[in-house]
Amino acid sequence: MFDYIIVGAGFSGSVIAERIANVLHKKVLIIEKRNHIGGNAFDRFNQEGLMIHQYGPHIFHTKLKYIWDYVSQFAEWHYYHHRVLASIDGQQVSIPFNLQALQDLLPSGLAQELEDKLVRQFGHGVKVPILKLRETEDRDLRWLAEFIYEKVFLHYTTKQWGMTPEELDPMVTGRVPVFISKDDRYFQDAYQGMPKLGYTAVFEGMLRHSNIKIMLNTDYKELLEVDSGTQSIRFMGRAFEGQLIYTGKIDELFNYEYGELPYRSLRFEFETLQQEKFQNTGTVNYPNEYDFTRITEFKHLTGQKHPYTAIVREYPQAYDRQRTGQDVPYYPIPKSENQERYSQYVQKAKQMSQLILLGRLAEYKYYDMDACIAKALKVFEDRIAGRQEN
Ligand code: FAD
Ligand code: UDP
Repeated sequence: MFDYIIVGAGFSGSVIAERIANVLHKKVLIIEKRNHIGGNAFDRFNQEGLMIHQYGPHIFHTKLKYIWDYVSQFAEWHYYHHRVLASIDGQQVSIPFNLQALQDLLPSGLAQELEDKLVRQFGHGVKVPILKLRETEDRDLRWLAEFIYEKVFLHYTTKQWGMTPEELDPMVTGRVPVFISKDDRYFQDAYQGMPKLGYTAVFEGMLRHSNIKIMLNTDYKELLEVDSGTQSIRFMGRAFEGQLIYTGKIDELFNYEYGELPYRSLRFEFETLQQEKFQNTGTVNYPNEYDFTRITEFKHLTGQKHPYTAIVREYPQAYDRQRTGQDVPYYPIPKSENQERYSQYVQKAKQMSQLILLGRLAEYKYYDMDACIAKALKVFEDRIAGRQEN
């Protein structure tokens, strides 16, 4: 019936499905528990006709031309470079914290002195993770590091993760390093933009193929039995000999045998305002005020013209798979003890030659969209197309 079964219709699953159908000309079934494709990148028009991102704001950015070219087969781009401001001490300053933010928040003489020191020590145009800046020997720069740490990172991170920056892998705060520059863009990647017709249309383009069947509203457990004891897979009660590409949670796949992997979840509060514009940039962060971390106004991202505007506030919360409203695992929590537990599951998965784990949930990795696509393309070449040739 099917040569391949994929669990999950996000970027990871969809890229694999597209490649299998178009390159290998094989039949593939995607099983998706939500009522739509696109995973967390899904977007749609709301009641007032404004484009919103149902699972939080998504901006496409990559350093890799081949990834940009790959997605461009399915998307025309709206030119967009994301800019973020943070509300700090009553002002809105650039995030990542940069030389302009320094000028905006500190008296000009002091700001100039610190700027000179930063440039001397690290070089112009360099990005310095906050945890690294805090280790500097220079007393003045250490003072600056503590200032930025306290104003930008400590409270935002505690809200977002329920933990301090030190309790998490340094890569988390390293995603938004202090930038010794006046460039105020959130990303400096060579390729950035928003799909003109939205992400969902990109997914529709990827999955429009007679070899691809999609079952929505279906938990894979309704159709598949994955038995790690006998290392066998059954599909609708019959032995399945093809490959299973799994992009859901790895602990769920193995019945939580080694315990649950923790996640952080979010509650999104959407609002449509009867005004044309709400804020000056796509996103404004609130590190030190409110229970939400940030507000995003979608029109900045999408470029949509409309008399009204839609915004979303993100309220971080604990993840609880058994509690409706808290049951979406948005963020794996990068921390060594979680990685150890994850490794136990991976050992188990390795014994099943038919099984491929892919994506933010199955690999328990804080992937951006471009990284998911890159990984899916690589896995396709190495483990799916490669296996065909052998
Ligand atoms: P997902 O998109 O999570 O897809 C997995 C799919 O599997 C889901 O559709 C799920 O319903 C399905 N599934 C799970 N379990 C089962 C089951 N039991 N049965 C059937 N189906 C199942 N990346 C960027 O590059 N730029 C951004 O600006 C950006 N912003 C983000 C903002 C937020 C708030 C979040 C949470 C993420 C953001 N990301 C961003 C990351 C981006 O969402 C991910 O990199 C990408 O969507 C992951 O794709 P995926 O296919 O691995 O996982
Ligand atoms: N962060 C912060 N303050 C900010 C922005 C980011 O402390 O104003 C930290 C926080 O820990 C956050 C991490 O940097 O979770 C990564 O930020 P990013 O914007 O990449 O998060 P995402 O968009 O993935 O939620």
